[in-house]
Amino acid sequence: MLFDAWDLLFKTPNSKAEPENSDLALRAGGPKDQVFQGKIKKGFSILAGAYVSKDSVTVVRLLLDATEPQRVRLKAAEMIGDIGELEAIDPIRSARFGNEIIQKKVDESVKKIHERYFTRECPFCAEIIKKRAKICKHCGKDVAGK
Ligand SMILES: [Zn+2]
Repeated sequence: MLFDAWDLLFKTPNSKAEPENSDLALRAGGPKDQVFQGKIKKGFSILAGAYVSKDSVTVVRLLLDATEPQRVRLKAAEMIGDIGELEAIDPIRSARFGNEIIQKKVDESVKKIHERYFTRECPFCAEIIKKRAKICKHCGKDVAGK
């Protein structure tokens, strides 16, 4: 086990990682705030369960859901690097996150998935190919050293 669910629920990203206009900006202490905090807890709890059961579909779903709090989506972006399969790459590569921090985490995670499967993306057609490939099996272009 890389981390436990409890840790996940209560550990929050450091303040540097919080963009302006983020979830924190809504922190006022009113009822709206409580609903919001509940949404974060719920999201983190779903993620913790999905992580344990390696349910990458659920993690991708939360990551792509623009109605989820940014913090939940950021955690999902991080997790997909640990449990994501190659099939997770296309949906998250095709999405626009509108948040630099989440986008950066997604890029890191895609890199991690490729490392795990010894793959990369063809620089011409963007299909997933073997890291060692010299010719792309999809578009036939020369990808040696590219
Ligand atoms: Zn190609």
